Amino acid sequence: MEEYLVEELNNVHELGIIIEVVKVVEDYALKNNVTGIDTLVLQIGEISSVIPKYVEECYPIAVEGTLLENTKLKIEIIPANAMCYDCGTVFNVVENEKNCPKCKSTLWRLLSGKEFIIKEIVAY
Ligand SMILES: [Zn+2]
Repeated sequence: MEEYLVEELNNVHELGIIIEVVKVVEDYALKNNVTGIDTLVLQIGEISSVIPKYVEECYPIAVEGTLLENTKLKIEIIPANAMCYDCGTVFNVVENEKNCPKCKSTLWRLLSGKEFIIKEIVAY
């Protein structure tokens, strides 16, 4: 029972976000006379605070009774890329454990990976 509660709490953050997303999409659909939505495409950064697995889990709950009910969810992951301040190399922060693979510097600027974007609404 305790484990179940922890699991429930994990995706509360995502559920709130998805409920907001659903509102935005519904609003957009109404304003643009979109009556049927086939797929919602989200882009989520690799090191975003939003966890794709939890988004997928709470999506059916969030869309229940809305215009997005029965629509498909597609999540695209944006890699966490950074540029090294010392040598200019662009590298994936996660794969390289936060060190530049070329010069081992830990001084870099994040270029991408924290996004949360409603990329596309695919209408019928
Ligand atoms: Zn470097």
